[in-house]
Amino acid sequence: MQHLVAAGQLTPEVLTELIAKAEEYRKLLETTDGRQQLRALYPDKIIATLFYEPSTRTRLSHESAAQRLGMGVVSTENAAEFSSAIKGETIEDTVRVVAGYADAIVIRHKETGIVDRAAAASPVPVINAGDGTGEHPTQALLDVYTIWREMGTLEGLNIVMGGDLAHGRTVRSLAQVMSNYKGTSFTFVTTPQLRMGDDIKQLLGERGVSFTETNDVHAATKEADVVYWTRLQKERLEDPTLEAGFVIDEQVMAGMKEKSVIMHPLPRVDEITAGVDADPRAAYFRQSHNGVYVRMALLDYLFSQK
Ligand code: ASP
Repeated sequence: MQHLVAAGQLTPEVLTELIAKAEEYRKLLETTDGRQQLRALYPDKIIATLFYEPSTRTRLSHESAAQRLGMGVVSTENAAEFSSAIKGETIEDTVRVVAGYADAIVIRHKETGIVDRAAAASPVPVINAGDGTGEHPTQALLDVYTIWREMGTLEGLNIVMGGDLAHGRTVRSLAQVMSNYKGTSFTFVTTPQLRMGDDIKQLLGERGVSFTETNDVHAATKEADVVYWTRLQKERLEDPTLEAGFVIDEQVMAGMKEKSVIMHPLPRVDEITAGVDADPRAAYFRQSHNGVYVRMALLDYLFSQK
């Protein structure tokens, strides 16, 4: 794996390795000695973060991960306006230029598929930090790590995904990755306009992974091991009047299994009420913190490739 552009590259073998590394880094970060050791690992590397779409967690956690490993960071947080894209530069030319300034490039863009083009033109590793309604593989990486930490296993899980499954890229990446594990089943809670893409459902069918679709939040969440909730992707909707209208509140929580977990890629808007936050099963803030450890592991993985 030279670049990480799609969740399909995150096979169980790769994930096992990355999770072990993330755990190792998590331990080292607990002590001053450990932190200093980590800072000494990659003082010769610089990463560039090129973000053409808004981000809080993904950009900052990649930059934090790089700095925890002793790397330098160069960054443009509003590349759509502040980079030469506005002058008409192609993504291929941009990465050729940035590859002269950095040893890896993390890209987020509103155009689906554009990170593949960037990777094809880049002599240094490219990481897809979200491409339109396409994929968000590093989010899938931190989601899988979170599921493993919270549930103690990646097998035999009933995963309920809810909200805007048509325009959300995190659910597309996570569904692909989790479909590789034995005994996974999915329930998609959504409306006809916000359904999971046919390409993902076809893949699940080919892999023999069972899935159902429903609009009954209570019935679906009762049987869930993992509840993965998402916001309506308002910025991607052609019809601005669309609503998802599926809310996780304390009443829904009361019907859920004691051993289960609620996740959300964040930002949360109003689809999980603040009253849920104190429930020990609400893992979304732990989940976002996990992003640093796995992104450290990923940078190490990409820089260790021969
Ligand atoms: N932060 C995630 C993403 O960039 C989820 C979201 O924005 O709803 O896809």
